[in-house]
Amino acid sequence: MDQTLGYAAKSPTDPLEQFSFERRDLRETDILIDVLFCGICHSDLHVIKNEWKNTIYPVVPGHEIVGRVRKIGSKVSLFREGDLIGIGCIIGSCRSCDNCKDNLEQYCDKGFTLVFNSKDPKDGSVNYGGFSKQIVVDESVALKIPKEFKESELPSVAPLLCAGITTYSPLKNWKVGPGSRVGVIGLGGLGHMGIMLAAAMGAHVTLFTTSSNKVEEGKELGANEVICSTDAARMSSYLGSLDFILNTAAASLDLNKYLRLLKRDGSMCLVGLPPTPHGALSADSLINKRRSLAGSLIGSIKETQEMLDFCAKHHVLARVELLPMEKVNEAFDRLIKKDVKYRFVLDVANS
Ligand SMILES: [Zn+2]
Ligand SMILES: [Zn+2]
Repeated sequence: MDQTLGYAAKSPTDPLEQFSFERRDLRETDILIDVLFCGICHSDLHVIKNEWKNTIYPVVPGHEIVGRVRKIGSKVSLFREGDLIGIGCIIGSCRSCDNCKDNLEQYCDKGFTLVFNSKDPKDGSVNYGGFSKQIVVDESVALKIPKEFKESELPSVAPLLCAGITTYSPLKNWKVGPGSRVGVIGLGGLGHMGIMLAAAMGAHVTLFTTSSNKVEEGKELGANEVICSTDAARMSSYLGSLDFILNTAAASLDLNKYLRLLKRDGSMCLVGLPPTPHGALSADSLINKRRSLAGSLIGSIKETQEMLDFCAKHHVLARVELLPMEKVNEAFDRLIKKDVKYRFVLDVANS
């Protein structure tokens, strides 16, 4: 077994601290990866604080991983030593249910295996994530980092593995393309990716935000219009005008207010997971124009590869602030205060 070093939380209240542990010996189709960069997602915070009541301590978070293959198992065929690879949330699933057979393993009936805070189905050991120098995964869940990305861009590639795919998947599923009128609610890690991806797909993008001072930021990311959602007059001028709304809000809100902005047959998709329920849904918000309300969870391995290739082709990169791994607690403190544009990424290799 290879000894590695990471950062772990040992309880919901303790700061993360250095943690030495072993990565498993390579199975036939496993690859050992030197982690270069790892993004910090709000889900990491939820797990550290045990807000989803399922945390196994000590927990090593991290699910937006870019690294380089150091060693491969005897039957690995997709990767070679030295390859740049990405690892996201999913590192396994049953592969036999209807969802897995449809290449939608994020909806696996048995539940997919998360890269951290989960147990390995084969030996029951606890999985530790990307806030660590090395990681071992089966080659089938690793993504190829397209060659178009420069070395200097790799920190900005890491958040594509969660924030990127979480927003790309619904935009594709609801067939956003040239001519689509898309609304994006929220300008955080997810929202900023949603704006850039929808714009790259050719859509006309309107950002809805609660802060009146985000007009320039939104436009700079590619939004055609930025609307302050507390401006009732502006909001009402958008009634019935949008084909699709990507709702990235991490706090509960009045969904009716936004559903009414959709055209006939328009859909709003939720990708944010607020800790408290959204306000009551009024049936007429849906009935009047045959609108739909839906949700979407990250994306499959296959679609994540497609997203990476799309981002390479259209030069879509997350906006990040790079920090050494030693500053991980400072990063979480600032994340709680929403003091981040728009993603922290840990410089694991140089820490
Ligand atoms: Zn995430
Ligand atoms: Zn399955």
